[in-house]
Amino acid sequence: MLVSAKDMLTKAKAGKYAVGQFNINNLEWTKAILLTAQENNSPVILGVSEGAGKYMCGFETVAAMVKAMINTLGITVPVALHLDHGSYEGAFKAMDAGFSSVMFDGSHYGIEENIEKTKEVIRVAGERGISVEAEVGAIGGEEDGVVGGGEVADPDECKSIAGLGVDMLAAGIGNIHGVYPENWQGLNFDVLAKIQEKTGTMPLVLHGGTGIPEEMVKKAISLGVSKVNVNTECQLSFAAATRKYIEEGKDQQGKGFDPRKLLAPGFEAIKATVKEKMELFGSINKA
Ligand SMILES: [Zn+2]
Repeated sequence: MLVSAKDMLTKAKAGKYAVGQFNINNLEWTKAILLTAQENNSPVILGVSEGAGKYMCGFETVAAMVKAMINTLGITVPVALHLDHGSYEGAFKAMDAGFSSVMFDGSHYGIEENIEKTKEVIRVAGERGISVEAEVGAIGGEEDGVVGGGEVADPDECKSIAGLGVDMLAAGIGNIHGVYPENWQGLNFDVLAKIQEKTGTMPLVLHGGTGIPEEMVKKAISLGVSKVNVNTECQLSFAAATRKYIEEGKDQQGKGFDPRKLLAPGFEAIKATVKEKMELFGSINKA
């Protein structure tokens, strides 16, 4: 069932667990995540970055694929199709294409411009029942080619953006996209607590979920994080499983070169990673 992310995050917030956002890259990725959500009776958010959207032939292709797959696979758990780190123009394009949720990432604008643009996205999304995520304080690491420095958001700026009526808020608390460096300082829980204090019941979003120690993820959820984004970890497990298949020479045995066989270990690896994350976030049987 394709729905906005609003209700699932409100429930997660009240139940003190988090819903995973798993980014998709192709048909196998999408199918693996949807099936895992259904098997574990968990709500799920499919994340699509602008780059991945382009790769998959545009937002319309993605929305059509996801909707058809939900029907064909008989997926009854709540599924949100969410634009990840959308530009201002991208947010409108995704909404027109049928996405049920969008992130407008105005963190690289000044706070005034971020507020103005976020307001306009909220206005249009509100008319269509689409949920909106906003970002304050850039998340470190690489966001589609843009490298940030592991910033920490200003809790007062978070309050200004949260007050506009967004459904979820991403705020930098020392988290980073991609693989964490050796000298990483960890999440800043003092800032997270202050942000939640200033934003009341607003569901908070933790980006860069790959490589954050499990105890830190759990603590972040206990302090108000209701959505955790996972992207790199699925990519790493897919790549490792595919590498193993090839290195064992299985593509050269019988019909092992058939893409449906060649991609199967990677597909299973994504399923295992997604299930592991759903267990950690506490979203199993919360559909
Ligand atoms: Zn992110």
